[in-house]
Amino acid sequence: MLKLCRITVKNPATGQDLCTVTSASPSDVRTAIHLAHSAYKEGYWSKIPVPVRSSVLSNLARMLEQKIPEFAKIESMQTGRCIKEMNAQLGRLPEWLDYYAALLKTHQAFVVPTQGKLLNYVQRVPLGVVAQITPFNHPLLIALKKIAPALAAGNSVIVKPSELAPITVLEFAELAASAGVPENVLQVLPGSGQYTGRSITSNPLVRKVDITAGTATGRALGQVVGSNLAAYTAELGGKAPIIVFDDADLESAVNGAAFASFVASGQTCVSGTRLIVQSGIYEEFVEKFLVKVESIRRRMGDPINPASAMGTIISETHLQRIEKMVEERPAKARILAGGKRLKGTSTLDRFDFSQGLFYPPTVIDGVETHDDLWREEVFGPVVVVRKFTEEPEGLFLANASKYGLGAGLWTQDIGKAHRLAAEIEAGLVWINTHHRNDPSSPWGGMKESGIGRENGIEALESYSQSKSTIVNIASVEETRASHDWFAEDVEDARYG
Ligand code: NDP
Repeated sequence: MLKLCRITVKNPATGQDLCTVTSASPSDVRTAIHLAHSAYKEGYWSKIPVPVRSSVLSNLARMLEQKIPEFAKIESMQTGRCIKEMNAQLGRLPEWLDYYAALLKTHQAFVVPTQGKLLNYVQRVPLGVVAQITPFNHPLLIALKKIAPALAAGNSVIVKPSELAPITVLEFAELAASAGVPENVLQVLPGSGQYTGRSITSNPLVRKVDITAGTATGRALGQVVGSNLAAYTAELGGKAPIIVFDDADLESAVNGAAFASFVASGQTCVSGTRLIVQSGIYEEFVEKFLVKVESIRRRMGDPINPASAMGTIISETHLQRIEKMVEERPAKARILAGGKRLKGTSTLDRFDFSQGLFYPPTVIDGVETHDDLWREEVFGPVVVVRKFTEEPEGLFLANASKYGLGAGLWTQDIGKAHRLAAEIEAGLVWINTHHRNDPSSPWGGMKESGIGRENGIEALESYSQSKSTIVNIASVEETRASHDWFAEDVEDARYG
């Protein structure tokens, strides 16, 4: 039987323990959901005036701004990601709170046309208790993308962060309480997916589950959520293609592809893992890309060093999976760079790699569309490069995937860019850029990359439901004359 336990959070760069957190047991989960539900019913968040809710979110944004340097450091230590990345990412998080605070104030109910003397107004009301299950790679960003619209819509929110990186989400909940989010309206329950996550997501009081996870987890969870007739948003895996055309600006394309492939050590759902390069510039692109790769590898070091270019892999299990996928590559696949876990010391800052989980940027060619390296998420800094000749072949290769989350296109031909963007099967297409994310910009996948969208008006709507109120505005006389369906003397009756 599973028992109450404490989770030790480790720094993947040093192997050292950072802290322990208590894993929420099934009975803790039941209590938390009960309290969340009572908070929702009592209405001290769900029913307060919208401008008040909005101002609490704005207040929280200002308080978060003050905490960014501290949170960025913690984020770097619990994920092994470079401090440079975490400063850049966390610096933008208040935008999500500000966006939903503002959107909330502009949200309007509406009146629909009806037959007869009726006034039919439609409002958005909260769902109740909602659950959010988040991954390790962007711990606070992903949690905030979900928390901001859920709170804005007036729900009571339960968050289960990844057991590998729960600290900043726990700290954020404390900040939210100080900013004025009432007790039990935002609760963070750490624990593993199998132990804590399952108890949360299977509870029938939970009216929506919003998960960011691998596709297998998302698929399994969908069945549980479906059986409770709850709403479901799932941001799942990806295998983003980057198509580079002959007419692309080569330097921008190389730099952009390197960013797409190796930010977060390739541990992002939109990581550019399949570089599909047109034959006219293929050799030159690969040559320059490998120079860039070597420059990144040379500048790997202590992730907390601002000069460090790429961090670690999150855990030994994840690293071993990457190693296995690279080792089991097809016979004709060639490793052009990387391919072996880093040991020894960093040339950047003498940091000792041997205690940490460092894997260098890795480039492989000779991979076919049926090979695992093409088909499956590696979730590490491993990319495959593939040549194509004509536009339809490039498009075919881009779409040769069960995933459909992010895709990048590099070309100076505006017509071709839009033509291809329209045909690519992905929820997000970037042209001459990659991994741009704004609170207003819908984020989510097609095919096996998920269902539903984060960000934007859609996310706020998905955390609420419409409520239609229909009022008879006829006079009493008119109502009496027309509303007695069972009147004895009328044959051709019509109600209303
Ligand atoms: P996992 O699928 O391993 O886990 C994601 C979360 O789900 C974790 O909090 C995990 O808990 C939890 N979980 C696992 N099983 C269950 C269950 N049965 N019930 C409830 N919760 C469960 O993903 P990773 O954390 O490894 O994250 C990487 C994945 O996330 C990649 O596939 C990536 O593509 C995807 N992702 C998608 C994004 C998108 O926007 N589409 C963005 C970022 C990542 P725990 O791990 O604590 O046990």
